[in-house]
This record gives sequence, C-alpha cells and structure tokens, in this order.
Amino acid sequence: MRNPIGGHVPVAGGLAKVGLGHARALEAETVQVFVANPRGWATPPGNPAQDELFRSECAADSVPAYVHAPYLINFGSHTEATVERSVVSLRHSLRRAREIGALGVVVHTGSATGGRAREEALAQVRTHMLPLLDELTHDDDPFLLLESTAGQGSSLCSRTWDFGPYFEALDSHPKLGICLDTCHIYAAGHDLTGPAGMRQTLDLLVDTVGEGRLKLIHANDSKDVVGAHKDRHENIGAGHIGAEPFRELFRHPATEGVPLIIETPGGKDGHAADVARLKELRGTAAV
Ligand SMILES: [Zn+2]
Repeated sequence: MRNPIGGHVPVAGGLAKVGLGHARALEAETVQVFVANPRGWATPPGNPAQDELFRSECAADSVPAYVHAPYLINFGSHTEATVERSVVSLRHSLRRAREIGALGVVVHTGSATGGRAREEALAQVRTHMLPLLDELTHDDDPFLLLESTAGQGSSLCSRTWDFGPYFEALDSHPKLGICLDTCHIYAAGHDLTGPAGMRQTLDLLVDTVGEGRLKLIHANDSKDVVGAHKDRHENIGAGHIGAEPFRELFRHPATEGVPLIIETPGGKDGHAADVARLKELRGTAAV
C-alpha cells in the first residue's frame, strides 16, 4: 500500500484494548497515540501486558504506530524549568515508543519565548535535543519527527524553509525526520490549493531537508484561510484546503510509503468518515 491511512486514537483504559479497538472501528491502517497526558509533565510507566499486546497486534496487522509527545514541550523556552521538563518528557516518549513498537515520536518544534532571538533558542535546541537523538542507538528505536506549527507567536518552525536551521542545529541527525501537518503548513502561509499548491509545498520541503526525511503526515483540513496562523483542524474536504490537494499529496514522490494520520473533529464517526474519504482520494490518485 502506497500510504497507510489512520488516525490518532484514545488509549485511556488500555493501549491495546481501547486504542486498537478504536483503530479497528476507523478501519485504520496506521495509528498515533499519546503515552502521557498531552497537557502535563507526568511520565507514566505503562502497562507491560497492554504494551506487548499493542506491539504484537500492530505487527501482526502491519499497522505502523506513532507516538505524539506532550504539547507542553518547548526546547526553545526561556524558562529553564520548562527546558528541563521537556528533556525528561521527550526522553520518556522516546523510550515508551520503543517499548510499544512505535516507529516515530512526533514533537512540536517550539518557540523562542521571552523575546529572545531565534538563534539563541536554536542553540538551546542543539544543547538539549541533540543528546536525546544520540541516545537512539537501538535498532528498534523510533525516529524523532519534528512537527512545525501554524506560525503563532515566536514559533521556531512554521514555513518549510524554517526546518533548515532546525536541522542544522541538530546536525541533520540520521534519526531526525519530519511530520508534516497539512493544516499547520497551510495556516503558516503555504497555499496547498490550486493545480500546483501541494506539489510546490512538498518540493520546497524536500529542497530544505533532502529526500527521505518526511516520515509522517498529519492530514487535517483547516477551518481558517491560508496564512491565518491559526491551528484549527477541520474534516477532510470541509475546510479551506478542500479535498483536491490531498489527492495531489498521494501523487508526490516525497510521500511514497509515508503514513497519514488524521486529527480532525467529530469523534469516532468523524474520524471514520475522514479515513474513508482519504482512502477514496488515494484510490483515485493512482497515476
Ligand atoms: Zn498535527
């Protein structure tokens, strides 16, 4: 299959029991989970039986799994305590990802808070994030996937070219990859619509970080117009991006083999409809 399609699933009540049950209801071919409260700093140990079940069932069904790290993480923060907690939190997500057999951990690229210069924040990213990448020495360690933002505030990474300095700060580490969120990149100012919008944006991304770095796509439509700098996801085809750019996405060489995860509104029914819609677009995109 060129691109597995699935969604972010809830796991309260059991990673395998609840998470994979939800995934099956969506007919998901790939899943994303949290391994900690996304709005907290806690680093829960997990349940070994559920971990093993999750890992073996994903392997048996050939469902690639991903972890989304907590939202509070910000390696560019001017607050020392936030940076220290970010290290602990991200290290936890990376370790938990390996334990459950996940292929990647998505982390937000963060922002330069407190009015500090972007260079200063990126130097801090280097100091604190690069050692975590260097810890990924096992064969089954996940990739660290950078997700850019819609460009609110002093975001370190929102346009495609912003990944350049970020990659440079991390020595383009071999375990480093990108998670492209279609809503974020559109809200940041890349018009994905029109005959060449999606293609040109993906070309720009490859120009910046090279081939093979795009490892995951968050497929979300946008409630807001291009360049709005607002992070408000909409169901596929129901927002300002529309369905057509997603068909184009399936045709670009950079997305070959890259899974798509939806993070759209509407609960289980909304997710099931979006997974089905993307599968339909994938089916008609064949070149
Ligand atoms: Zn996302």
